Amino acid sequence: MPDRLKVVTIDGPSGVGKSTISRKLAARMNFTYLDTGAMYRAVALKCKQNGVDVSDEAAVALLLENLDIQLLPALSEKEEVRVILDGKDVSSLIRSPEVSMMASAVSALPSVRECLTRMQQQLGASGKVVAEGRDTGTIVFPEAIWKFYLDAAPEERARRRINQLRSRGEVVHEEEILAQILKRDRDDSVRTIAPLKAAEDAEVVDSTRLRADEVIEHMLGRINRK
Ligand code: C5P
Repeated sequence: MPDRLKVVTIDGPSGVGKSTISRKLAARMNFTYLDTGAMYRAVALKCKQNGVDVSDEAAVALLLENLDIQLLPALSEKEEVRVILDGKDVSSLIRSPEVSMMASAVSALPSVRECLTRMQQQLGASGKVVAEGRDTGTIVFPEAIWKFYLDAAPEERARRRINQLRSRGEVVHEEEILAQILKRDRDDSVRTIAPLKAAEDAEVVDSTRLRADEVIEHMLGRINRK
């Protein structure tokens, strides 16, 4: 398959466990993990730091002219990728609930999608990448060899997110987390460009009743067969 890219894409809604699974799968395959959501989060944070309204596309587009994002491997298996924005480590700042909601808003802007999609395609151009996001199988890497769409019931996703936030010592309001997950699902699915959806050639994996290691084994089995 010479015209297909040695890339695994993993798309799906918020809180489904994509990051954990993608990071571990990449380690098992000796591939690079590409967290595309972290890039949308970095743009959202840049807006916040510069007092730019995320619905003001012209102002956001100006910020994109000097966008410097670097993704570095996580320091440990349990942590997310490290994100350097304009030379500063913003890895924790981009994970706040406020920046999550802002990321969803900036991700609907065509200029932001165009800029980040191009950066992601450059990062994956030589293959050996596990890319995770909402549109990696549909838009960013349509020619990827292995495509998955990871799903789980919203209540289960909220439960996992709540556990994750609590394990970091954060105070969590359960109904609020479920409401945020449902809102992000809705906003990400209805937007006109690059909406959240499974690529036609993606395998849908429902992880509601599966542990992360079971999902990974299942994916590796598929990957080894193709
Ligand atoms: O995956 P994560 O929760 O970090 O993504 C943050 C937000 O970035 C998502 O809610 C979504 O709106 C946006 N996003 C996107 N396309 C991607 C990855 C993330 O629109 N490929």
